[in-house]
Amino acid sequence: MTKITPQPGILDIAPYVGGASHVEGVSDVVKLSSNENPFGPSEATVEAFRRAGFELHRYPSTDHAALRAAIGAVHDLDPAQIICGVGSDEILHLLCQAYAGPGDEVIHTEHGFAIYRIGALAAGATPVEVPEKNRVTDVDAILAACTKRTKLVFIANPNNPTGTMIGADEVQRLADGIPETALLVLDGAYAEYVDGFDGGASLVTGRDNVVMTRTFSKIYGLGGLRVGWGYAPAHVIDVLNRIRGPFNLSTPALAAAEAAVKDQAWVDKCRSDNTRLRAWLAEVLAGHGVQSDPSETNFILARFADAEEAAACNEYLKSQGLIVRPVASYNLPEYLRITVGDEASCRRVAHAIGQFMGGAA
Ligand SMILES: *Cc1c(COP(=O)(O)O)cnc(C)c1O
Repeated sequence: MTKITPQPGILDIAPYVGGASHVEGVSDVVKLSSNENPFGPSEATVEAFRRAGFELHRYPSTDHAALRAAIGAVHDLDPAQIICGVGSDEILHLLCQAYAGPGDEVIHTEHGFAIYRIGALAAGATPVEVPEKNRVTDVDAILAACTKRTKLVFIANPNNPTGTMIGADEVQRLADGIPETALLVLDGAYAEYVDGFDGGASLVTGRDNVVMTRTFSKIYGLGGLRVGWGYAPAHVIDVLNRIRGPFNLSTPALAAAEAAVKDQAWVDKCRSDNTRLRAWLAEVLAGHGVQSDPSETNFILARFADAEEAAACNEYLKSQGLIVRPVASYNLPEYLRITVGDEASCRRVAHAIGQFMGGAA
């Protein structure tokens, strides 16, 4: 037995499992398990990435000034209050490392994103899971769970894997009600899918206790590149920059993300296609007896009669080369999370679920 042991909490972390991407013995699979943009990044983004290939002998920018300026211009935010990370995951981890430690509590919702718990445990803090109300963030339950040890409160709005969201009034009530020593983190990974939604940015402005995180991994189609960002009060940005790796983002990542954020026409196109295909998919699945809550994201949380039916449907979909996401690890065993793909993928998955449900009836 080795006497070399990690910090407390670390061995309590169940390693994160990403969405599957292949099925044994099946070629031509459709991956609908990681909420990726089926259309990929915009042409301008890929071009900027290519050009950056000629600069690989140079170290990247440490202050990310050009990317922060571009994000600030598009979202009408002060670039000095923006920080960029290796995916929003890095920002979430930095927040945990900076603000929570042994004896501190980190709140996340019942079906909240796995990284909140992992980040809290990695920092030696105690994750506190708060129930939702019918798969929707419950502000009263969160406020009731707050103690003087609460240092961070994470909500994703809209949430993954439920797809639901709460309104600006509710988010403000949460920001107003948490302890003075706690920071509210609004994870806006899916914010761009909600037409006209600012992800909570206006709440961050002018307060000292709210942070918003965003990502290039979803609507921008850059999950493979690893770029996210946060918008936070100046005191938080200062703290995070002290622990952030100086060269956390590579030159190609910075260049491609800058081109991506400047190409809002692509974002608009992807949002409207997603909205149309999501509505179509939800309606067809409901016609096959598979209900879902109204989703504000690029996925649908499809509800089956029970865990057995969900698991059997998942196996059937796999046999058809369709990879969706079982969410039993999120305590949702009777559901499958299905990313809204392109039109052909939506038709394929809808058809297969129809066959499965017809066969099961
Ligand atoms: C996908 C996702 C993210 C994005 O993570 P990245 O590290 O930016 O790829 C963050 N939060 C939630 C809830 C997500 O679903």
